[in-house]
Amino acid sequence: MSRPNQSQDPECIFCKIIAGQIPCYELHQDERALAFLDIGPLSKAHSLVVPKAHATTIDELSSEDAAACGAILPRLSKAITTATGAPACNILQNNGALAGQAVGHVHFHVIPRFDPAQPEAEEGVGLRFDWTPNKLEADKAQALQSAIRQGL
Ligand code: AMP
Ligand code: ZN
Repeated sequence: MSRPNQSQDPECIFCKIIAGQIPCYELHQDERALAFLDIGPLSKAHSLVVPKAHATTIDELSSEDAAACGAILPRLSKAITTATGAPACNILQNNGALAGQAVGHVHFHVIPRFDPAQPEAEEGVGLRFDWTPNKLEADKAQALQSAIRQGL
């Protein structure tokens, strides 16, 4: 495995957190990843996992840094849902302004989801979204499959 890339963007708020220039409520850190509480939570204990090396969007992330972020998500999700009593949670990762990305440093949200009847829901029920599926047509699926596989 290659050595961690330590590149930082001096203008980036998450790089400043990683560098210790801005405080955070740290939950975990290892050689490549940092987890901390989100300062604007959608629900109780909404948290973020970020790679320590600056990358703006997921397609810029190295496999090693992606693996480091992914490796902590199962344990962190379990710790968060256990600590809060959340029966469910969403992992969310926004890329680009149109997708809702406000901070240009890759991050994975862990967003506990609460039943509105739970007292914790007073701090927010968590992520709500519109999910309106279309039908996947065979000819379009094959064209997409071919185009995407060529890019991998
Ligand atoms: P996104 O819209 O996916 O880019 O989400 C950015 C998230 O970063 C939001 O949920 C913010 O509340 C969170 N955030 C921004 N600044 C900070 C900070 N200094 N500490 C913790 N979370 C932050
Ligand atoms: Zn950054």
